[in-house]
Amino acid sequence: MDFSKKNKGTASVWAGETDPFYKGATTSPIVNSVAFAYHDLDEWHDVATGKAEGHIYSRNTNPTVHVLEEKIRILEGAEAATSFATGMGAISNTLFGLLAPGKRVVSIKDTYGGTSRLFLDFLPTYQINVTLCETGNHEAMEAEIAKGCDLVYLETPTNPTLKVVDIKRLSAAAHQVGAVVVVDNTFATPINQNPLKLGADLVIHSATKFLGGHSDAMGGLLCGKKELVEKVFRFREINGASLQADPAYLIARGMKTLELRIERQNASALKIARFLKAHPKVNDVFYPGLETHPGHGIAKEQMSGFGGVLSFSLKGSYDDVKTFLTKLNFVHLAASLGSVSTLAGPPRTTSHVELTEAQRAQLGIPESLIRYSVGIENVEDLIGDLTQALAALEAVFETEKTV
Ligand SMILES: *Cc1c(COP(=O)(O)O)cnc(C)c1O
Repeated sequence: MDFSKKNKGTASVWAGETDPFYKGATTSPIVNSVAFAYHDLDEWHDVATGKAEGHIYSRNTNPTVHVLEEKIRILEGAEAATSFATGMGAISNTLFGLLAPGKRVVSIKDTYGGTSRLFLDFLPTYQINVTLCETGNHEAMEAEIAKGCDLVYLETPTNPTLKVVDIKRLSAAAHQVGAVVVVDNTFATPINQNPLKLGADLVIHSATKFLGGHSDAMGGLLCGKKELVEKVFRFREINGASLQADPAYLIARGMKTLELRIERQNASALKIARFLKAHPKVNDVFYPGLETHPGHGIAKEQMSGFGGVLSFSLKGSYDDVKTFLTKLNFVHLAASLGSVSTLAGPPRTTSHVELTEAQRAQLGIPESLIRYSVGIENVEDLIGDLTQALAALEAVFETEKTV
């Protein structure tokens, strides 16, 4: 059946899982087999040379991994998909698989921390020129793209201040100069945003986050134009950053509830963002669903929901952040995001720990910023939790005053 014509909630459950499974199983088995055996040497040869479908060796392809690749391919409306051991595996393989010495990349300053490191520390050592523009300054970005480039790399909404980038506008600019457009769609998920429909050529996901959704498996996905995905796949099957069957199974299982989780996380995050915005102890709230967010207009155009991650700063110092965070009950103070359980942490100690205070300020990241990834808990319980932790902060202020 062609699941690309079906709604996303249906495709999430069924895509890649229509084959009859082993002994009539109704869920895809975890095929922990390194190699795949053939009785017929001609058939083996046909599979090995790509003339027939099948699997040879799990560094290249694997049936369980294929189920996951099919799900993302359908959900993003892509021609082809492939997978990697982690999200960074997807990003580094895409960049190193498509670029070569002398090529030029235009991107934004606010990409994921690991991606920034590739742009600033690694690509230049291979004589790949990288220009990073102010995130959200579309005129500057168009001017850089028009100078000529080979790859435009976007991420939206960004981490941790949820800046929004216009995918349609920048894809059009990139295609004028023949550049390939890659979008990291991790924060939005395919439920809220489909970059390929907006003109991008390739979409990347850290499947570790919302797609898996349970903080128990790592993986990376790439989908989009067949020719480009195949080029990256050829590189990945040799460098070996392949996804294993066990995490692929967990991520595919998580994806069956993707639409349910994202709908809930969208609604809860918006409610929490509005609650925090109105709270006297909160300085600023960054969430593209708020009308006051500078990227709200573009977000409304290109997203169908605003996602489960928000960030906010307290009226206070980093010490107040410490007090506040440790008072929260329904939250893991941990890196990562997109899980069923709420996760929070200050970018100062997590994603942007390697930067100096001045560098963080340059990116518009206040020292008292908190990133809050909303889980699927009851939203009233989460708001109650935030309320009591903010109340504790007031108590701290009063104690300090009386001392
Ligand atoms: C986490 C993350 C990555 C990296 O993914 P890993 O699975 O941790 O390697 C890339 N991009 C974004 C936006 C992320 O949040």
